[in-house]
Parts: sequence; structure tokens; C-alpha cells
Amino acid sequence: MPKKNETPAQTINRVLSGSLARVEAAHNAPRCYHVKINGIRCGSPAMHQDAFCFFHTRMHNPPLEDGFPPLEDANAIQVAIMQVLQALAKKKLEVRVAATLLYGLQTASSNLKRTQFEPYAPAIVTVDPIDERWHRKPPESEPSL
Ligand SMILES: [Zn+2]
Repeated sequence: MPKKNETPAQTINRVLSGSLARVEAAHNAPRCYHVKINGIRCGSPAMHQDAFCFFHTRMHNPPLEDGFPPLEDANAIQVAIMQVLQALAKKKLEVRVAATLLYGLQTASSNLKRTQFEPYAPAIVTVDPIDERWHRKPPESEPSL
């Protein structure tokens, strides 16, 4: 939005420099410390004041002990398969129930090609909305030149 006594070029310059500052801040944000089984570090932005990204925070501290994560991507389905196999290995599930769950997960996996859950990159969550609600700060004004 143009400010009083500002030329269009000054408005464009002000808005673009603010956007570039936000992109640079996002690139410099702390990264998730989780190392995947293939030895490659996750690299997603870490949650505010946390060592892990949103996904790995939830993976290490699932909100519901016996629930599956929302089956919105291959990672979530993999975690759910892992939960079923762990429960089966610990004899917490009957083979017939595990087979039904694995069939459902196989169906979810084959449906992945037809789903679209990927967020718009700037909208990726880096602060848990539940935590943010309790620690809300007033919105910051745009930096001026
Ligand atoms: Zn991560």
C-alpha cells in the first residue's frame, strides 16, 4: 500500500525490500535437527524455540498416543505403518486387525497421487498455533527505509 508523498517506484522498492528481508530471515531460521535413517538431516525450519520442525516435533511427541497422524503425505503414512508394526511386534494388536489397518494404509498410500495437501511455502507453520495463542504479541509494523 502506497504511503503519502511516496512515488510508485519508492512503494515498489519499500515492499520488495521488506519481502526480501522476510525471505532472508526465513533462510537464516534455525533448522530441524532430526537426522533421517538415510543419514540426511531434515533441514526444514525448526519450530520456534524447538530443535525440530513441526512434523518431527509431532513424530517425537505424538499428541495422541494411540492415534495415527493425519494421513496427508507419505511421511505420515510411513509413521502410521511403523505404529502398526510396533503394536503388532509388542502383541498389542491382533494380526487380523493389523492386516485391516495395513490395508487401509496401503489404500491411503495409493491415493496420495490424487491428493493435494502441500501448503503454500510462506504459510508453513514454524510456531505451534496452540502455543502462539498463549504467547501472542502485537503485530509488528512494516520496516521503513
Ligand atoms: Zn524435521
